[in-house]
Amino acid sequence: MARLQEIYKQNNLVQRAYDFSKQAHVGQKRKNGDPYFVHCAAAAESVAEWGLDEATIAAALLHDVVEDTPHTLEEIKNQFGEDVTFLVDGVTKISKVRYRGIEAKVENLRKFILYLSQDVRVILVKLADRLHNMKTLYAVPSQKQKRIALETMEIYAPLAYRLGMQKLSGELEDLAFPYLYPQEHKWLIENIKVRFEEREKYAQRLKPMIESEFKKNDITVSRIESRAKRYTSLYKKLLRYDMNIESIYDLVALRIIVPSVEDCYAALGIIHKMWPPLPHRFKDYVALPKANGYRSLHTTVFGPENKITEIQIKTEVMHNEAENGIAAHFAYHQAKDTKGYLERVAAVADKKELGWIQQLRQWQNSFTNPEDFLNSLKIDFFQDRILTLTPKGEVIDLPDGATPVDFAYQIHTEIGNQCSGAKVNGKIVALSHSLKSGDVVEIITQKTKHPSESWLNFVRTGSAKNHIKSALRRVMTTFAKKEPQSTEIKLVVQDRSGLLNEISEMIRRSHFNIQAVNNNLPIIKITCNLTPKEKTEKLLEKLKKLKEVKEANYRLV
Ligand code: MN
Repeated sequence: MARLQEIYKQNNLVQRAYDFSKQAHVGQKRKNGDPYFVHCAAAAESVAEWGLDEATIAAALLHDVVEDTPHTLEEIKNQFGEDVTFLVDGVTKISKVRYRGIEAKVENLRKFILYLSQDVRVILVKLADRLHNMKTLYAVPSQKQKRIALETMEIYAPLAYRLGMQKLSGELEDLAFPYLYPQEHKWLIENIKVRFEEREKYAQRLKPMIESEFKKNDITVSRIESRAKRYTSLYKKLLRYDMNIESIYDLVALRIIVPSVEDCYAALGIIHKMWPPLPHRFKDYVALPKANGYRSLHTTVFGPENKITEIQIKTEVMHNEAENGIAAHFAYHQAKDTKGYLERVAAVADKKELGWIQQLRQWQNSFTNPEDFLNSLKIDFFQDRILTLTPKGEVIDLPDGATPVDFAYQIHTEIGNQCSGAKVNGKIVALSHSLKSGDVVEIITQKTKHPSESWLNFVRTGSAKNHIKSALRRVMTTFAKKEPQSTEIKLVVQDRSGLLNEISEMIRRSHFNIQAVNNNLPIIKITCNLTPKEKTEKLLEKLKKLKEVKEANYRLV
């Protein structure tokens, strides 16, 4: 609690929030027997370490007060002001979103949490809260353990990753892993531990070799550290490599921190002179950062004894950004030092990257001074999107102004085609109704229903438009086909003179109007006016009695 204690001494707001929360939770215990306040202080310690502002630290201290004590949001507002209250309220709201592992589109749920948060600081407090909950998950009943671990793995660890907080993301995954995959975790521990230790020793041996070589070449090294791969990411990688540990080269990687970007490339040159690199393993994430903003040079070399080793080279700024992501940017602005950030290489966004991450990154890149930065923390990049919910809680992402018909087609083409009505938040609405974020939408379907052309006037999504058009076309062609003009009788015969005349006569006597005869022996096709099915079948029976007629059938054309 070092950082928090330090701030407590200097900052009045944090001091008051600390004392208020401690008092509010007095007598309450956590499942593991700790006083409840330990949890609040741990969350606050995390956001303090990430370098966040006083309001966020206060909000972390107070984040469970409204939910779990008799104190109200109104009281928080009177005591701590709008900013803290907004953050506490935000955390409470997103805590109500539950992931049950059934939603088809987890991505939309992550977005929904961002949307509800409205301010990145809210998510950061939530992540700090979740981190401590995961550390004490052992004390919680096993059913609840599974749900919380799953939610952490699927929702919160990826959110942390998207915000560039790799260290936190990896930590959350590793905390969730044993609850979700106990067998696999056990296997991993048993099979990896020795190898980790061996590789660690090996990495330690390389350190002085690199240091002396760098000294000869006049390159300053800030520090060299070894980094053991995290269990969860190792497991994911093993799955891709048929569980073959030998093929994982970055079990323990060496991380070389140098003062400047130029030093990164110079250091890389020296490393490649010392030990030959593996072909195709070099990655320049400095010139081409990863989608979440990660920057570093990665190379894999044949080290001493021909052991394959991964080496990462980066600056202190890159390292801090990689570990703490968005929080690192926040810390720069706290210190009113925008330089490090502004010096960043313009990032090249991955084309496959999802739109909202791009927006998030543009938004991270767009501010130039601390005031702009604070304003930019508002999550407003959902302005042209709305996030609606199915009655089961699945989040459906739609463009602004979308209607229940767009929603229906987003769920399934058939639901769209058979859509006959809609309820929004329990009330019947017109199909052209404009949906809003947070709306719970229920679609009423009818099997016999077809899309109406008028829907094209109000739907907003291209996919709904296309589905409606193609459904309308299908209805048209079916309709056209259902209007036959004539009856065509087809006979297979053995010819003899006078047979065709005899057949024509029989057909005329049955009151059919012959329109055309196509004699292509042994097949004769006779087109008549449209006749009822029964009458046609009777005629066919008569025709079949002729011994030269081998086959007789008909169709409507
Ligand atoms: Mn909590």
